[in-house]
Amino acid sequence: MADFETPELKEIPIIPHVKDGSMAHSKPYVAKAEFQEPLGYPGELVDNWEQVAVDKLGELKGKYRSLQVFLDSCVKCGACTDKCHYYLGTSDPKNMPVARQDLLRKVYRRYYTFAGKYFPKLVGAEDMTKEVLDDWYSYFHQCSQCRRCSVFCPYGIDTAEISMAAREIMDAVGMGQKYCNEIIAKVFKIGNNLGLPEPALADTLEGLEEEVEEDIGVPVKFPLDVKGADILLVTPSADFFAEPHVDGLIGYAKVFHEAGASWTLSSYASEAANFGMFIGSYENMRRISRRIRKAAQELGVKRIIFGECGHAWRVAYAFLNTYAGPWDFLDPNYPVPQHICEYTYDLIQEGKLKFDKSENDHMTLTYHDSCNVARATRMGDKPGGQFTIPREIIKATCNNYYDMPADTIGEATFCCGGGGGLLTDDLMELRVKGAMPRMQAYKTVVDDHGVTNLAAICAICKTQFAKVFPYYGYGMTDIVSVHQLVGEAIILSDAPSDDDDDDNDDE
Ligand code: SF4
Ligand code: SF4
Repeated sequence: MADFETPELKEIPIIPHVKDGSMAHSKPYVAKAEFQEPLGYPGELVDNWEQVAVDKLGELKGKYRSLQVFLDSCVKCGACTDKCHYYLGTSDPKNMPVARQDLLRKVYRRYYTFAGKYFPKLVGAEDMTKEVLDDWYSYFHQCSQCRRCSVFCPYGIDTAEISMAAREIMDAVGMGQKYCNEIIAKVFKIGNNLGLPEPALADTLEGLEEEVEEDIGVPVKFPLDVKGADILLVTPSADFFAEPHVDGLIGYAKVFHEAGASWTLSSYASEAANFGMFIGSYENMRRISRRIRKAAQELGVKRIIFGECGHAWRVAYAFLNTYAGPWDFLDPNYPVPQHICEYTYDLIQEGKLKFDKSENDHMTLTYHDSCNVARATRMGDKPGGQFTIPREIIKATCNNYYDMPADTIGEATFCCGGGGGLLTDDLMELRVKGAMPRMQAYKTVVDDHGVTNLAAICAICKTQFAKVFPYYGYGMTDIVSVHQLVGEAIILSDAPSDDDDDDNDDE
């Protein structure tokens, strides 16, 4: 384990006293030229970076009216100060959402407001200096763009959007973040975040087919690049092998099998994740989204379904139609995009899936609303579907379920601490400390109801919890995929019956 103190979990959450600069040392690795240039950014800090940064800020505030409104409208009411998990976990006052916004706001005021130009000290305006840039690099990489603060802001100011703009500016001056930019470059070159080429992917899926058939005696398929399939499944590449993600993929495949669906994965668009959002780059987000369009057209599918990935669903829900539409070549009877939870839920409602809930009786579950799904998307055709649908699926497949405290779930959910492009080992201290509010809420249901496992529908949350659980005294495998629960409990109509087993025993 890394060398820092894990926050103590308290019975009643306490707003911490501020510790100035306690996380100033936390910074992700800076991207080298090889990861900057494929995304269209300079390879290193450009000579006139101060001017480039100020110009880029001007360009962004002109393009995105919301950014200027957010920068102009804060009244310093303080309602957001104790709402960020990174402030609650680190005590660093610059992790208060309003203070984080001010890091950009002070530069905006200096160059783009009358008062800031002529009376900078009066309005807290500051020049764009290297010290400011370093502060940006540190603290805009301590925001997971989860939008929790915006729920509590009376003006709805979205710090996530300000963080995205700051990261876009840093990329433009040649100071991007290695983790995100390296991953985006891999998607452009190979098709997924993991750099898994087509033969390796085909091999992995073939191995999964053999494993599942050996396990349950049913030839559940994991099709790849099947032209003319009805459904294109776009899923995070972690689903192909990481635990517990792959158990979720097995769950989707069993649902498709039982529904008799014709489906396929694509080796070209073998990634649902879209890190373009994390770096605030709408252009890179668009380039990644267009890969899904190309795959859908080439395969001739009729509909597109997204696997369990929080930010991928946010990008798909908010931007897929704008960036990669029109989807007039798909079947108009289905929404574009559609979430795998919507698909499974509809089948449950239609009585087309049967479950043996006792298969999950060794677990008592709770559910973590992933921040991107909770506050930036919907599911189904009713408001709040993103909260009810995953829970209805869990309750259909498990006997033992308890929610965490109401002020930590639903729209008020806490981020796992690893979202927004921060899921990298160079930010481990931040990730562990930022997970504290979620861990505190989890502890209450562990203590009160004997909860043993946390279910989620986000690849980042799953990886993050597997990593941070041990810091808080829980097991790495206590995090599970929602479709893992589905896959365990589903009764497949063509599964060999116990009688078949008895017959075989007689032979
Ligand atoms: S968007 Fe989330 S991580 Fe960022 S400041 Fe707001 S609460 Fe904190
Ligand atoms: S809640 Fe909104 S208006 Fe109040 S300080 Fe925070 S960002 Fe500013």
